[in-house]
Amino acid sequence: MRTSTFRAFMAVTVGDAIQRGVVTLDVSELPDGVPIEVRWSSVNYKDALASTPTGKVARISPIVPGIDMAGIVADDADGVASGTEVIAHGYELGVSRHGGFAEMAKVPADWLVPLPAGLTLREAMVIGTAGFTAALSVVALEEHGLSPEDGPVLVTGASGGVGSVAVNLLSRLGFQVAASTGKPEASDYLKALGAHTIVEREALGQPGRPLESPSWAGAIDCVGGITLANVLSRISYGGAVAASGLTGGAQLPTTVMPFILRGVSLLGVDSVQTPIERRRAVWARLGGDLKPAGLDEIGREIGLEDISGVLDAITAGAVTGRNVVDVLR
Ligand code: NDP
Repeated sequence: MRTSTFRAFMAVTVGDAIQRGVVTLDVSELPDGVPIEVRWSSVNYKDALASTPTGKVARISPIVPGIDMAGIVADDADGVASGTEVIAHGYELGVSRHGGFAEMAKVPADWLVPLPAGLTLREAMVIGTAGFTAALSVVALEEHGLSPEDGPVLVTGASGGVGSVAVNLLSRLGFQVAASTGKPEASDYLKALGAHTIVEREALGQPGRPLESPSWAGAIDCVGGITLANVLSRISYGGAVAASGLTGGAQLPTTVMPFILRGVSLLGVDSVQTPIERRRAVWARLGGDLKPAGLDEIGREIGLEDISGVLDAITAGAVTGRNVVDVLR
């Protein structure tokens, strides 16, 4: 390794508060693993949870948050060659082990995804955990048998990280996409990503009946709560909802009616513990047939010093698209 010190964005619990800022660390403070010169990271909803006192996500303090990273292996280690371009996300990163908001990281070899052909390190982080989760959701709907001929598909939380990529991927695959958003100003952005229609977030935000007239053949839901209950009530016969998020709440106030009267399936999506072989296979598709278009429009570049403000914006539900971190900036 070239230097032993590096810059990192760190969160430290002090009493009931969390102090955040950019500090200098020494490589000796990193856990065991393959050394990686991080080039790009990205800011996710979970990073906001890991950096706020009520989030209950971080398991160690101090912690370098950042559930996403893309970089270059700095030294031969554990069978991985120096110079290999890699992606790492999920598992314990940024939760109980230092993550990607730093110039250096160490990651177990069996958590590493080789950068797929068709993607740059920066593009991989515009996609990041959020885009990977969107891709897992699309694959779940595909495996359920959903195809564009079945009818329109809804995406909730559409202007966020998972939602933006989901809109884009579904549109690329030929689906007619309805995008639900709480941000009227995001309509043009969502249409540019491929949304055919916009559904106001509020239209799905109030308690509804267990079954409503069917509107969509399937859905990708990043919101949970009452929204997911309302989505389930409006899925057509035999359709499916891939559920990954909880920005609208962790409860699911629904009944069994959509499941037992319409054969609707609720498909759980988890990116954190996705087995490494499936992870590598889905990333290979993200560099190929599932490569999102318009990655430049989705990604906004920031530096380590800007992370704190973005975490606050995420907590306020005010983020559009993806914030990619140029850790060397
Ligand atoms: P973002 O913060 O980028 O986007 C979340 C979006 O949700 C917002 O942009 C907004 O979209 C919508 N939203 C925000 N607050 C509310 C609210 N109170 N009610 C309804 N909608 C709201 O987050 P991500 O896209 O990164 O993550 C989305 C969710 O998915 C999170 O809950 C996250 O924890 C989860 N997640 C789960 C993963 C898994 O492995 N299961 C992996 C990655 C994320 P709009 O204004 O368009 O409505």
